[in-house]
Amino acid sequence: MSMESFVFGGVPARVVFGSGTLARLPEELDRLERRRALVLATPQQVDQAERVRDLLAHRAAGIYAQATMHTPVEVTEDALAAAAACGADCTVAIGGGSTTGLGKAIALRTGLDQIVVPTTYAGSEMTDILGQTEDGVKTTIRSPDVQPEVVIYDVDLTLSLPRGLTGTSGMNAIAHAVEALYAVDRNPVISLIAEEGIRALSAVLPKLTAVPDDRDARSDALYGAWLCGIALGGAAMALHHKLCHTLGGTFDLPHAETHAIVLPHAAAYNAPAAPGAMARVARALGGADAPAGLHALAQSIDAPRSLRELGMPESGIDAAADRAVQSPYANPRPIERTAIRALIARAWAGEPPVT
Ligand code: NAD
Repeated sequence: MSMESFVFGGVPARVVFGSGTLARLPEELDRLERRRALVLATPQQVDQAERVRDLLAHRAAGIYAQATMHTPVEVTEDALAAAAACGADCTVAIGGGSTTGLGKAIALRTGLDQIVVPTTYAGSEMTDILGQTEDGVKTTIRSPDVQPEVVIYDVDLTLSLPRGLTGTSGMNAIAHAVEALYAVDRNPVISLIAEEGIRALSAVLPKLTAVPDDRDARSDALYGAWLCGIALGGAAMALHHKLCHTLGGTFDLPHAETHAIVLPHAAAYNAPAAPGAMARVARALGGADAPAGLHALAQSIDAPRSLRELGMPESGIDAAADRAVQSPYANPRPIERTAIRALIARAWAGEPPVT
């Protein structure tokens, strides 16, 4: 087999991984030569933010714990005022994609360095992607200005991730890797990373659904999520991410759950046009067929099974299909409205994927 030409942009950030690694935060701050960190969190993770503040001691400039989904611009502006008021020279974001998003939005406007301590499997910390919402409209940008400098993965902080979010957030991560394997700008290094990410996560997600505080399984899951995040940052998104973006934005559906439901269907849609990628996904899942394997994985985690359960109205299927075909983007299989509508209808009803 001859090697196709490609571009590989490198691996994005310095990573500290392990159990108890949060304790290394002060030395990472020293490495960046920063002295006053604003700690970011959601209201649900204030206690973890307070732990970070205590750990930073005199280097903690303050806590801003109002991060929320979809990075609303008004929250960002409020956080910018808080950062200026306390003289912050960097941020430490502890939480999931919502909190990481706030840190990125601050970095975009101020250039402040970011240390991210992820507590879900969303993978945003490994990307140069930022989605923001203004007047109810979500826009996504890619910019090196939002790429975090340092990421501290501490397995211990993921032990409290609820059962449901563990499974759906894991599927969200796997979706990044699946799309990286058939991306228009895929490359051999990202493909290796993506396949290993799917393997590591899929091997432990069913176990974590049963025993959420299994530390070894948590460690494998976080390792897999890291790799899947690199895959998201290292290749273009296609049908699956565009569909989830449209569905989430139009019907205000929860992020990780929507990914978990749509992924087997999006893979089935693209399977005929991306046989090589699907063979790698299937191999990583330890099965023979990628869409069926992803469907089985989604069934094995404690997650909703249909978009209907998430509150999407049946009348929304046509509207979503219309939106999905509106703006063109690269995808292995051409975007055909009839087939896309059938895909969305199956995901809405909770039916198995059809290739
Ligand atoms: P989230 O950050 O919204 O977190 C969901 C909830 O779980 C929050 O209340 C949070 O405080 C809580 N939580 C997080 N970790 C916890 C833990 N360990 N223990 C207990 N509770 C915990 O959810 P998410 O799925 O991580 O992120 C979704 C957001 O991230 C979306 O807005 C999505 O668009 C964005 N995202 C962006 C990128 C990117 O590259 N830009 C990638 C993936 C996701």
